[in-house]
Amino acid sequence: MDAHNVTFPRFNFDNSFARSLDGFFTPWQAAPATSPRLLKLNHALAAELGLDADALDSEIGAAIFSGNLMPDGASPLAQAYAGHQFGGFSPKLGDGRALLLGEVIDTNQRRRDIQLKGSGRTPFSRGGDGKAALGPVLREYLMGEAMHALGIPTTRALAAVTTGDVVHRETPLPGAVLTRIAASHIRVGTFEYFAARDETDKIRQLADYAIARHYPEVRGAQNPYLAFFLAVANAQAALIAHWMNVGFIHGVMNTDNMTISGETIDYGPCAFMDAHAPGTVFSSIDTQGRYAYANQPPIANWNLARLAETLIPLVDDNAEQSVRLLTDTLTSFSSMYETYWLSETRAKIGLATAEGGDLDLVNGLLATMEQAGADHTLVFRRLSLAALGDSAAAQILFGEPTAFNAWAGRWHARLERESVAPNERAQRMDRINPIYIARNHKVEEALAAAVERDDLTPFTALLELVSNPYDEIEGKEDFSSPAPMSPVPYQTFCGT
Ligand code: AMP
Ligand code: MG
Repeated sequence: MDAHNVTFPRFNFDNSFARSLDGFFTPWQAAPATSPRLLKLNHALAAELGLDADALDSEIGAAIFSGNLMPDGASPLAQAYAGHQFGGFSPKLGDGRALLLGEVIDTNQRRRDIQLKGSGRTPFSRGGDGKAALGPVLREYLMGEAMHALGIPTTRALAAVTTGDVVHRETPLPGAVLTRIAASHIRVGTFEYFAARDETDKIRQLADYAIARHYPEVRGAQNPYLAFFLAVANAQAALIAHWMNVGFIHGVMNTDNMTISGETIDYGPCAFMDAHAPGTVFSSIDTQGRYAYANQPPIANWNLARLAETLIPLVDDNAEQSVRLLTDTLTSFSSMYETYWLSETRAKIGLATAEGGDLDLVNGLLATMEQAGADHTLVFRRLSLAALGDSAAAQILFGEPTAFNAWAGRWHARLERESVAPNERAQRMDRINPIYIARNHKVEEALAAAVERDDLTPFTALLELVSNPYDEIEGKEDFSSPAPMSPVPYQTFCGT
């Protein structure tokens, strides 16, 4: 490389976390990567962050995104957090394989974290190697971008590099680093870390920081910490409603994997379900089904209760009064969730107005889908055709169509009570019901090609489709169809 022709990419860092939260992290450095190679750079996101994508699409970019080269102004650090994992409390988790480089203010004036994931051991690594393997890095890249394209709040991938080092899991695998962008990496578990140590001043400091960063509007409330809790609960209610409507299953909804900002984070054994089945679990480690599809709303509620506990000393000097206020607020989670979920589901079946019988109507459809094992994504997508009078494509997803036809009769009667032009309605439905999700067999295919054959072509093709999930492309039926019947249920692995 000719050093004279290289523009060194500038990051406009403004590291408020490092500056104002001393004691919440350990300053740290990345482990060196032997021969970093840039596999994927998210040009659109780079531009949004005010970064020079062309300059980063280079060996220098590979050096930066592997952790070998720290850009000017970075304050690399590992954050402390705790967490309830599968219901059991771990007082010390923290960034065991991640480094926060810092924050940039993006072109929309939003503050965004830039984090490396897989950059080596830290004081929080416990028994782990601090590394990430290529498959999980690409999985997180793909899932985050798919969710973003579906309009769901999420962390996003800026870059994926291979390190040139081998990572040992069950087999030796190529090592990789994901560069992740987030509204922040503050988790429910970050609050729990300090609550477990009875550090009330630190909890207040963290809450004040989180309020300033994510919910500045609550500062004027009569009880700002209670209003903060309500704001987090509200953001999570909206988030989980989105997940449910696209059939997304996070897989490890531990409190350390739940953000304060309301973004989806930590894509591990997550997956989209094909056949609509409330009990669906993909994760090999979730043997009890704690994080099954239908359990996600109550689990979010449970996680929020853990957050509420940490806020008791902040909300009122009288602990009993504090518990009462927080409990009352938490009680509103399920109705907030139901409201978000129903208004979105209404739109998915083409309704523009609300009527009392709508909940019953959408539940009727879901029950019929469950009974028939119909594909979640395709049923909703094909309802736009059915709304135009062509039911065949939807009907076929139900096998024996009697129940669906009966439901469709009620639905048509309901549609007719709205004065919306059919074409306009169908178009609107196709803007909310995706044709492409990251289907499990396609994800596996793409990751296998990348890991086993160093071939990124299938990954890039899938990424392209799920990044434009509403635009049907002729000849890509393979990507919109459920997996061919398999004798073994699909399983995902944490892949840490
Ligand atoms: P996760 O299951 O990815 O949400 O991670 C849970 C905790 O384990 C976090 O504290 C991680 O930093 C830590 N962890 C996961 N994988 C590794 C690894 N390979 N090395 C060190 N720490 C890890
Ligand atoms: Mg995690």
